[in-house]
Amino acid sequence: MLIKSQVELFESIKSGDTEGIIHGAEEKLMQYGLTKEQVKRIRESRKPDLYITLRAPIGGVVIKKNAILGQFVKEGQEMFVINDLSHVWVKLDAYERNMPWIRYGQNVTFTTAAVPGKTYGGKIIFVDPVLNMNTRTVNVRVDAANPEFELKPHMFVNAVIQVEVDNAGNVINSDWVGKYICPFHPNEVSSVPGICPESKQPLQPASAYGYSEASHPKLPLVIPETAVLYTGTRSLVYVDVPNQNQPTYEQREVTLGPKTGDGYVIYRGLEEGENVVIKGNFQIDSSVQILGEPSMMNPFQPETKGSAYSSKPTPETTSVPRAAHREKREETNSVIQKPAPEMSPDPHASHGTGGR
Ligand SMILES: [Zn+2]
Repeated sequence: MLIKSQVELFESIKSGDTEGIIHGAEEKLMQYGLTKEQVKRIRESRKPDLYITLRAPIGGVVIKKNAILGQFVKEGQEMFVINDLSHVWVKLDAYERNMPWIRYGQNVTFTTAAVPGKTYGGKIIFVDPVLNMNTRTVNVRVDAANPEFELKPHMFVNAVIQVEVDNAGNVINSDWVGKYICPFHPNEVSSVPGICPESKQPLQPASAYGYSEASHPKLPLVIPETAVLYTGTRSLVYVDVPNQNQPTYEQREVTLGPKTGDGYVIYRGLEEGENVVIKGNFQIDSSVQILGEPSMMNPFQPETKGSAYSSKPTPETTSVPRAAHREKREETNSVIQKPAPEMSPDPHASHGTGGR
């Protein structure tokens, strides 16, 4: 094919074709992967070159070599697979309970046993819209720089995402309040709507990806997980009733938000500053059950709405804080894999990951 195209070029020169037609023949050779210099040399030498050096379109390392000397290759046949490993994709597995914390564009840090003591960083560029039925996890793809080439394809990593959420469950990123981001390059951030210069995609408001819009977001209420009695359908806490002659506790049904490392975000049912029982709540609950009052296991007591109960051994309580809650989400069993553009669902997901 290459030789035939070379002959075509010489014939069109010989027959005195216009520069346009000659240029077309040259263009065809370049489409086959020849460089401008090679075409120029062929044109000057006036005879077809039987041995042609084909240059790889990208720099990198050969990770697969199918070609052997003297082999006949057909059009479209894969001879070499070349990877640019200066950028890698990290594939993370996130459990369902992690999902409230995970957003497109978040920073991720990760470590690998192969390079002890070193922490790497990257950004989430894709969150799979579908959960993997076999692993019960959601694939989260991170783009990470690998300038030292220490990260090798198929290595395992452990990744951590530090997250802060507001009281509506939106992720707080003060840099992105009111900003617009590219749906494919989270590094492309603008204060006005527009088009990403790289992907030519319209920029989207950061809030569309679940980021808080408020410049002073309201922080959520967080209580320790031991405060929550979970019945399977309802979540109960016992709240300290203040100004009583003896310790008195009131049962409260709460709506739980995302699970934090050792607590829960509370969407409804508690006020800031209230004291919740964090130790001894099971004891209170079983006592009210004996008294025939509504309890964890026996909620439907029409005559009373919530019950106050006096307890002798003072249970340990804690105040409900409205605290900035920095959450750590850890994914394990994650694999580093080099970007494989043909696998990507979007046309330019290999952007910034290869070809430089
Ligand atoms: Zn873009």
